[in-house]
Amino acid sequence: MMQQAERLDAADPLAKWRGEFLLDEGLAYLDGNSLGALPKVVPARVEEVVREEWGAQLIASWNDAGWIDLPQKVGGKIASLVGAQGHEVIAADTTSINLFKLISAALAMRPGRKQVLSEPGNFPSDLYMIEGLEAQGLAERRLAERGNIEAALDENVALLLLTHVHYKTGEMFDMARLTKAAHDVGALVVWDLSHSAGAVPVDLNGANADFAVGCGYKYLNGGPGAPAFAYVAERHQAGLQQPLSGWMGHKAPFAFVDDYQPAPGVDRLLCSTPSVIAMSALEVGVDLMAGIGMEALVEKSRALSEFTRKAMAEHVPELPCISPADPAQRGSQLSFRHQHSYQLCQALIARNVIGDFRAPDVLRVGFAPAYVRFADCARLVEELRDILDSGEWQKPEYAERGAVT
Ligand SMILES: *Cc1c(COP(=O)(O)O)cnc(C)c1O
Repeated sequence: MMQQAERLDAADPLAKWRGEFLLDEGLAYLDGNSLGALPKVVPARVEEVVREEWGAQLIASWNDAGWIDLPQKVGGKIASLVGAQGHEVIAADTTSINLFKLISAALAMRPGRKQVLSEPGNFPSDLYMIEGLEAQGLAERRLAERGNIEAALDENVALLLLTHVHYKTGEMFDMARLTKAAHDVGALVVWDLSHSAGAVPVDLNGANADFAVGCGYKYLNGGPGAPAFAYVAERHQAGLQQPLSGWMGHKAPFAFVDDYQPAPGVDRLLCSTPSVIAMSALEVGVDLMAGIGMEALVEKSRALSEFTRKAMAEHVPELPCISPADPAQRGSQLSFRHQHSYQLCQALIARNVIGDFRAPDVLRVGFAPAYVRFADCARLVEELRDILDSGEWQKPEYAERGAVT
């Protein structure tokens, strides 16, 4: 298996890109779906922003270094990765905050309807944000199992809120089909692309999607807590009303007038002053993904996960895969179930194979195609086999849990 992996690595047209990331040779990093790796040029770029743009040029950098345009500029670059037009995406705030803005905006566009339909087991923030709006009397949360979503769509639903690639199982929704089903009953759709952007094919315009949000620190490699992004289809921009009406989303922020008037276009999703240092790091990560190209990234992602799925089924059959077997129906990750997944994950980490654990019993591995090698996948399988056979996972220290799992 390792020999086959090494042959695949030798023939991999993306192999050279790993060198653009600060990753130890011996590290099998299979957690880029949770926190993307550090692009090598980020430290120098951040230092330049801090020392030159902030330190030396100070306030002039808002204009001269283009700080003020970063949300649109970085958003436009992300747009190219998710099948949107440049002016439909803005980089700002966090995924959760962007969810709040867009769920509210969508509800305002469907007066008389309050229901926000989602699935049980969706990412917590997505569900909690609906609850927050419910507590204010603005929304009514309704959940339907994924197989029943289309049946649950009816004339009471204002908005369908789904995560395109499920964070725990890797299952991927058919974006075009569900968007159409929602539109057929007059509902809008918000897609959470946190586990999609930079990893799987996304065609927001092709799917006729209304709204989307996504995360900057996973496959976009923007760094911990990186700014997120939000997409508003061009046809919805003029009428869009979002509740976090901060001054940066005003049509003339530097007029300092008392009354709010939204900026034209997607700019009205802005609330506050952009986080310039973080946005500069995110831009590097996004540029890297755009430089490699989504088609090549998707192709390698599928090859990596197929290699791993087959090797796991052959060599570690006691961990069943709960992700779809068809690579076209899953994200860039695989999840396996085992009663002692937490300990297995810790034992793997001790051997420099980094995956993660998701409660209650899932071992999750992600394949960030820009830097994961086939040999990393083979290591996962080999080490896991050995950890199980030797009983090493039973060491008491592997059962201790940190605040972040
Ligand atoms: C990672 C992730 C988020 C993250 O939200 P934050 O506001 O950045 O903490 C939201 N939704 C999904 C589906 C995610 O996977």
